Amino acid sequence: MKPIDYNKYRATKNIITPVRFLIFHYTAGNFSSSINTLTGPNVSVHYLVPDITDPSYLKAGYTRQEVFNLVDETKRAWHAGVSAWGNRSNLNDTSISVEIVNLATFSQGVFNFPPYQPEQIAAVEELALDILERYPDISPTQVLGHSDIAVGRKSDPGPKFPWHALYLKGVGAWFDEVTRDTYLQQYNESGIPARSDLLKLFKTYGYDVSGASTEQGFAHLVRAFQLHFRPETYNGMMDAQTAANLAALVHKYFP
Ligand SMILES: [Zn+2]
Repeated sequence: MKPIDYNKYRATKNIITPVRFLIFHYTAGNFSSSINTLTGPNVSVHYLVPDITDPSYLKAGYTRQEVFNLVDETKRAWHAGVSAWGNRSNLNDTSISVEIVNLATFSQGVFNFPPYQPEQIAAVEELALDILERYPDISPTQVLGHSDIAVGRKSDPGPKFPWHALYLKGVGAWFDEVTRDTYLQQYNESGIPARSDLLKLFKTYGYDVSGASTEQGFAHLVRAFQLHFRPETYNGMMDAQTAANLAALVHKYFP
């Protein structure tokens, strides 16, 4: 792992132990612009995972997949902003953060989410497993995306992030398909749970439901969940499959 001391002078506050969260982001910019942003006055991150196909990365003189440690793990990085999960808010104080170079865009109301590179994901997996081994208080359901903890405000790391593949390697949470299929059959036959029951499930799992009392707020919540746990369709519309995935997750992790 490549150490860089670009930014350590700015990370002055200590992280609060035990560290409870591992948070993934995409940069929405190339390596060069990401380094500028992440070593500037407003945001920072513990780890940056570049993309070896990014011309600005190659131009900077790198030829292999590296992982850059920008902020020491004992210090707080400024990556999450206004954020909440479970009974905690402002997660910067208790989270390790990973930014992954990816040129996702948002233009005229439309998101474009390009795929991640396999070498990048292999590096993310190795890094995450190492972090999780050292911080046993980060439970699977506390391995999250920025979109999970900043509902309606953020979309990263986006639907192309391979949450399920990482789960299979031991990183993060996923539902058991048999359980999901049982719920799915039930919901297909008798309808999905009432809004109030769905909100209870979201809240039990950890999502901040405080903004979900309006139709738009509820759609934002559903979309945040779908970006992580039902990435084929993330239109923010509740349906039987989304509800079944959610119920199966709660069944597994919060029985
Ligand atoms: Zn982010």
